[in-house]
Amino acid sequence: MIVIDAGHGGEDGGAIAADGTAESGINLAIAQDIDALLRFLGCETRMTRTEDAAIYSDGARTLREKKASDLKNRVALVNETPSAVLLSIHQNSLPSSRRVHGAQAFYARTEGSEALAESVQSALNAAVNQGNEKSQKAIDKSVYLMKNINCPAVLVECGFLSNAEETERLRQADYQRRLAVTVAAGFLAGLAGQGTT
Ligand SMILES: [Zn+2]
Repeated sequence: MIVIDAGHGGEDGGAIAADGTAESGINLAIAQDIDALLRFLGCETRMTRTEDAAIYSDGARTLREKKASDLKNRVALVNETPSAVLLSIHQNSLPSSRRVHGAQAFYARTEGSEALAESVQSALNAAVNQGNEKSQKAIDKSVYLMKNINCPAVLVECGFLSNAEETERLRQADYQRRLAVTVAAGFLAGLAGQGTT
């Protein structure tokens, strides 16, 4: 079962572009395109969220509590899913270097994750990173979801909201679809390479 995670949601917009574009909405659009594609191809999928809302539990009050509860619930959802593989969708931001752009795949420390990220990264390099090729990287230890799941997992930072031109592309439905096709194809090729499907 492929778990597709659209990062952030609701009060937690994630990274915000100079023009006010929030990461959470772009994540959801791309995640929904990926979900539709994978289902069309006959894969079983599950999404962590399907609307612009986080998934925190009732007791959470402050934004901080809500974020913590939301992440805990996402981890539980992934870890309770039988033979899960996780694909988490995010957007990057580096306001100190506004020219930096492009898509990058990050892998969890669980077995199989690095090979999956490598496959996704090479698909991204061919489709959207021409002249700006990147390498897959281990995810930073501070990313709670990726640290606490126990299945193969890849997090894709699809682009930089700190870059104005890339933000413009990321807002467009056809670019979101191109990213979705690319990520889905790279992810499936990676799974096929491991015999995990
Ligand atoms: Zn994010």
